[in-house]
Amino acid sequence: MTLSARLSAIDERIADAARRAGRDPGEITRIVVTKFHPASLVRELHELGVTDVGENRQQETTAKRAALDGLGVRWHFIGQAQTNKAAAIRRDADVVHSVDRVKLADALHRADVDGDPLDVLVQVNLTEDTGRGGSALGDAEALTEHVLSLPSLRLRGVMAVAPLDEEPSRAFARLRDVADRVRALAPAATWISAGMTGDFEAAIDAGATHLRIGSAITGPRPDRG
Ligand SMILES: *Cc1c(COP(=O)(O)O)cnc(C)c1O
Repeated sequence: MTLSARLSAIDERIADAARRAGRDPGEITRIVVTKFHPASLVRELHELGVTDVGENRQQETTAKRAALDGLGVRWHFIGQAQTNKAAAIRRDADVVHSVDRVKLADALHRADVDGDPLDVLVQVNLTEDTGRGGSALGDAEALTEHVLSLPSLRLRGVMAVAPLDEEPSRAFARLRDVADRVRALAPAATWISAGMTGDFEAAIDAGATHLRIGSAITGPRPDRG
């Protein structure tokens, strides 16, 4: 299958899942995760009408953005972020999905150079493994309050990755609950970033507004993926 055919097939599945859930497919943003693929793939996707791409490493994001200078796509940073990379991430990403601790929020805020607010999401960890990215579920509201206190960050919602060893719909139900609690503090924070190649239909069912889909569209990742 060509890239174009894979993209259309996924978009059809997204639309079908949305309709089954009684949702408008138009309210769902499909982010194509291009990590480990060359910048030329982002250009091809853009030619096919893709407006939103996802990357999980700062250096790769910076390199691709430079290689594709001025290409009109939104860059979503979805990876675990080191505090010392915050300035580069802020410069090169349009949205940061992975704000999972106060220190990172502070570093992103301090890196503001132009007064344009940065869109961010609070990432929550749906597993018991504290080594995984994301704030503990019980800390999400405190982190939300902290992000709201930083005027250069605009909180858009919550993000999570479903655990491998659990039914995704159960994990996404917990995410939805956190999303509700965050929205009670920040009514404008309506985004739910969830759903990957293996579980995006369950995520749509649970209210996801932003899907992060990689390999089903791009094909397998070269190495490291
Ligand atoms: C790689 C990645 C994805 C996409 O994964 P696929 O299974 O290839 O769709 C989504 N979210 C995050 C955080 C990722 O790192």
